[in-house]
Amino acid sequence: MKKITIIIPAYNEEESLPILYERIKKLMDDMKNYEFEILFVNDGSKDKTIEIIKQLRQEDKRICYVDFSRNFGKEIAMIAGLDYATGDCVIFMDADLQDPPEVVPELVKYWEEGYDDVYAKRKSRKGETWLKKFTSKMYYKVLQHLTRVEIQRDTGDFRLLDRRCVNALKKLRESQRNTKSMFSWIGYKKKEVLYDRDPRVAGATKWNYMKLVDLAIDGITSFTTSPLRLSTFIAIPTFMVLFVYFVYVIAKSLIIQEVIQAYQAIILLILFFSGIQILLFGIVGEYLGRIFNETKNRPLYLVNEYNDQKEMNEK
Ligand code: UDP
Ligand code: MG
Repeated sequence: MKKITIIIPAYNEEESLPILYERIKKLMDDMKNYEFEILFVNDGSKDKTIEIIKQLRQEDKRICYVDFSRNFGKEIAMIAGLDYATGDCVIFMDADLQDPPEVVPELVKYWEEGYDDVYAKRKSRKGETWLKKFTSKMYYKVLQHLTRVEIQRDTGDFRLLDRRCVNALKKLRESQRNTKSMFSWIGYKKKEVLYDRDPRVAGATKWNYMKLVDLAIDGITSFTTSPLRLSTFIAIPTFMVLFVYFVYVIAKSLIIQEVIQAYQAIILLILFFSGIQILLFGIVGEYLGRIFNETKNRPLYLVNEYNDQKEMNEK
């Protein structure tokens, strides 16, 4: 029997968990041909989340959990989920039921047809402002221009991944994670499934615009170091202006025998030195980018407890 691991990152979700368990239990009852593992990653919740998970585990051994030593963020919770998952495929799901478990059979259907990465795409974005939709659209446009990796739009983390994808993702151990871009980066056979994203069932969102901006910048910088190239690009027009002005001043002094004015010399000097400075900055940036790409090997998280066992070391 094939085993499906559902990975659920949870941060202060005490109100959602009982409802979530009911819905997932129904799903598991409906899909009797599969073995299930419900893997909660408790991301340093400050409420009763971990107690509730432990309680659920007493009733139902299919429930497993990884308990973090502190809050590491959803992205890190997701990689921990992949590390501890034992299934033949994994499904990421939010704890707040915004990703309806009822979509799961369809995801599994395509997996059985041979797709490796079946992602759920939002059909509608109910209750989102015009501004949010617009900025999100522009963001994807910019991001897609910066990289040759194909990016899936309007998809969140709600998706099914085959073991091959899980193993691939486990190899990407950088600490500033943008899991969404990694799903695109690993490639493999992808299939989209449309669904309606529900509003959060209980509790409050942990997101705000500031976090979104953070995520957007992480998205770009984790994909490419091209923003560091900005300096190099600014240096080029600076030198071009310098060159044109230089030719103009010299030509004028030669043809109409005009003495070079002090202000002209100053402009030339400013253009010359600022050009050099920006250029050197750009070169530093290029190397910095390479260092940045090479130095990502700290353990990503620390685990307090895994299924009732005290875990001393991270995996
Ligand atoms: N989450 C987490 N760590 C955090 C923030 C959020 O594990 O630091 C989890 C949260 O419990 C939920 C999922 O990530 O299961 C999505 O969070 P949320 O619903 O707040 O985000 P939104 O759906 O509003 O984008
Ligand atoms: Mg949510």
